[in-house]
Amino acid sequence: MMKINDNFWSPIQNLMMEVVLPYQLDIMEDKVPGAEKSHAVQNFRIAAGKAEGEFYGMVFQDSDIAKWLEAVAYALQLKPNKTLEKKADEMIALIGDAQEDDGYLNTYFSVKEPEHKWQNLLECHELYCSGHMIEAAVAYFEATGKDTLLNIMRRNADLICSRFGEGKIRGIPGHQEIELALYRLYKVTSEPSYLETARYFLDERGKEPNYFKEELASRNWYHWGNNFDPEYGQNHLPVRKQTEAVGHSVRAVYMYTAMAAIAAETGDKELSLACRTLWDNIVNKRMYITGGIGSTRHGEAFTIDYDLPNDTIYAETCASVAMVFFARKMLELEPKGEYADIMEKELYNGILSGMQLDGKKFFYVNPLEVVAGVSGELPDYKHALPERPEWFGCACCPPNVARLVTSLGQYAWGEAADGIYNHLYIGGIYEMDGVTIETTTDYPWEGFVSYTIKNSADFNLFVRVPEWAGDDWEISVNGQSYQASLKNGYAAIKRSWQTGDTVKLTLEMQAKRVYASTKVRANAGCVAIMRGPLIYCFESHDNGTNLSALRLPRDAKLIDNKEEALGLVAVTAWGTRLESSDNLYSFAPPSAKETQLRAIPYYAWGNRGLGDMRVWILERSDIF
Ligand SMILES: [Zn+2]
Repeated sequence: MMKINDNFWSPIQNLMMEVVLPYQLDIMEDKVPGAEKSHAVQNFRIAAGKAEGEFYGMVFQDSDIAKWLEAVAYALQLKPNKTLEKKADEMIALIGDAQEDDGYLNTYFSVKEPEHKWQNLLECHELYCSGHMIEAAVAYFEATGKDTLLNIMRRNADLICSRFGEGKIRGIPGHQEIELALYRLYKVTSEPSYLETARYFLDERGKEPNYFKEELASRNWYHWGNNFDPEYGQNHLPVRKQTEAVGHSVRAVYMYTAMAAIAAETGDKELSLACRTLWDNIVNKRMYITGGIGSTRHGEAFTIDYDLPNDTIYAETCASVAMVFFARKMLELEPKGEYADIMEKELYNGILSGMQLDGKKFFYVNPLEVVAGVSGELPDYKHALPERPEWFGCACCPPNVARLVTSLGQYAWGEAADGIYNHLYIGGIYEMDGVTIETTTDYPWEGFVSYTIKNSADFNLFVRVPEWAGDDWEISVNGQSYQASLKNGYAAIKRSWQTGDTVKLTLEMQAKRVYASTKVRANAGCVAIMRGPLIYCFESHDNGTNLSALRLPRDAKLIDNKEEALGLVAVTAWGTRLESSDNLYSFAPPSAKETQLRAIPYYAWGNRGLGDMRVWILERSDIF
C-alpha cells in the first residue's frame, strides 16, 4: 500500500475530499439549490420506514450512495475526517434499517414494486446495486475496521448466493458488477460461496438457452422496454469464447475485470486467455489515444475495429475508470508494463478530462473534437457536450472518479513472486512486508523519478519503463549508471539493498508526434502530440476558431512552454492556417498563413469557457 504525497496527485486527492465528496453528499441529500433532484438518501429513509413518500430516481439510484461510501472509505485512509466519517456511519445505519429481514436491499423494489423483486435482472440492476454496496462495505471495513456495512452486505450476499447458482434459480446480472464485488467480498471474508457465485454469474452468461430470453418470456412487464440485444450486455457468447469487446463499454470492462481477478485467483488458464484476447482487441483496435473506449452513444458501446470517430465518440469517463480496474487485475495475472502503460494513459488523460480543474463539474462523454454550435447541439452530437455540465441528479461518472482517485495508492505498486513492481510514478511512501520505499518526482511535467530504499532488504525492484519512452531512458543506482535488463516493460534491479540506497529513473520528456493507423479513417492525415504520458489538444482559446484549417508541419519543432494560469506545460510550434475565399467551393486552393500553434494537455481542456477543441490536427508534409 502506498501513501501518496505528490505534487500532481495530492491536490487532486484533496479536491476529492474537500470539494467532491461533500458536494456529492449535498446532492444526494437534495441540498444543492437548482440541482436536479437526487432523492438517493430519501429513498433509503422511506425504505427504512423513517419517512413517508414515494421512491424517486433511477432504478439504480442506490448505487450513488454506494459509490460515495466507497470513496469516503478511501478518503478516510488518506486523512482522518470526522465529519465525513460521521455522515458515512449515519448512512450505514440507515442502510441497515432499510434492509429487509432476509437480507434483501434495494430501495426501488422495497418501496415501489415489492412484488417484482428479482424478476427483471435484465433491466433493473438489483445485482448491480448490491455489487457497488458490497464494494463500499469491503472498502469501509478495510479503511476503518468497522464491520457494520460489511455484515449488512454479507447478509445481502448470502441471500444472493443462496438464490442463484447451479441447482438453484437461474439468473445473471443485466449490468455486470456483482461478479467483481463478490470476488472482493471473498478476499476479505474467505467465504467460498462468494467466489463460486461470482464464477457462476460469469460462466452462466452467454450460455444457451440465453437466460434473458427465458426471463423476458416469463414476465409480462418491462422497466425500460428495451429490446434484448445479446451483444449490448455481452450475452452473445460464453465469456470464455468472447474475442472482441462489444456492447456497453462499462458493463464489458467491469466483467473483464472480474474475469481477470478470478483467473488470477484460481489459475484458470482459459479465463486468463480470454482476458488477454479481449484486452488486445480493445487496446490495439478499439481505444482512443486518450484511453477512451466506446465509439458510439448508441448503447454507450464499442462498435468495430478502427471505428474511432472523434466528435460523435462516447468514451464515458466510467469506462476509462473501468479500464484502470481491468489493467490492475491483468497486472496481477502477469506483471507486464503494457497494462500499467494503459493504466497511466487512462489516469492522465481519459479520466482526468472527466473533471473540471476545480472539481465542480464533470464530463460523462469525453470527445476528442468539439466544435461550438455542433457539439452538444446537432442531433448526432447532443451527447458530446462542449462544456462540463453540472452534476446530474443521478450520477455515475463523478463518484467513480472519486473512488478511483482516492484509492490511487493501491494502483502505483504491485507485488509478484519475483519482486516488487513500480507501475506508476507517483510521489509518496510505499510499504509492504517490511520494505519501505520513498518516491519523489515532478511527473508528469518532469521525467525524473527518485526511489529511496528506507531499510536494508533483499528483493528485486522492477521499475516500469513506459512504451512511449522508447530507448530514451536510463537508470542509476546510488548515482552510478546501472545497466538494467528490461523484462516485460520493467527495468529489473537486483541487489541487497542498504538503508538509504537510491535509484533514479530518467525519462526523456520531449513532446513528440503520434500517428494513428491508416485504418482509422477519422484521423487520416492527422497527427497528435504527446509529452510524457499526456496527450495534448488544441483549443480555440489559443489558436482561434476553425481548428480544421490549421496545419502542423511534420518538421516543425515542438517547444515546451509553461502555462502559468492553468499550472501546466503547454507545447507550441510554428504552423499554418489555411484561408479560402468566402465561396463554399472554389477553383483556387486555399492560401496559407504562418501562425503559432499552441497545445495544452487534453485533461485540462474546457476550463476556459466555451470554445472549439481537437486532439488530432491535420499535418502538413511533403509526403501526402
Ligand atoms: Zn459514467
